[in-house]
Amino acid sequence: MLKGQCHCGAIHYEMPTEVLHHSLCHCTDCRRHAGAPMVAWAMVPAEQLHVTGQPAIYHSSEHGRRHFCAACGTGLFYVNEEMLPGMIDIQTATLDDPALLQPPTAHIQVADRIAWMREVHTLPSFERYPA
Ligand SMILES: [Zn+2]
Ligand SMILES: [Zn+2]
Repeated sequence: MLKGQCHCGAIHYEMPTEVLHHSLCHCTDCRRHAGAPMVAWAMVPAEQLHVTGQPAIYHSSEHGRRHFCAACGTGLFYVNEEMLPGMIDIQTATLDDPALLQPPTAHIQVADRIAWMREVHTLPSFERYPA
């Protein structure tokens, strides 16, 4: 099992190491809800996710339900009982050690991708900040 939590620690969770898929979503809804250029998601059967604490639930579309911490705002889970019954998606950047999960295997919803995200891997990198 892998452990994760929201930023303030009011919500903790445990998820399996085996997931159905792990991908990087560029859709407008994920981007705006997370306040980030993309969001990493892994899907598991809902009964395999064990949550401690009570996430708030935001209706982000007709059937989309985004679970987040009402105290600190961290986005955590996504459920769509219409399209993906019995499944839950986890925002894997909230894991204690995201590198323990199998790496994402795809970029999805790139029709909505910010144009400059396509080439971000070519940017110069710094351990902390540029001198
Ligand atoms: Zn929190
Ligand atoms: Zn998305």
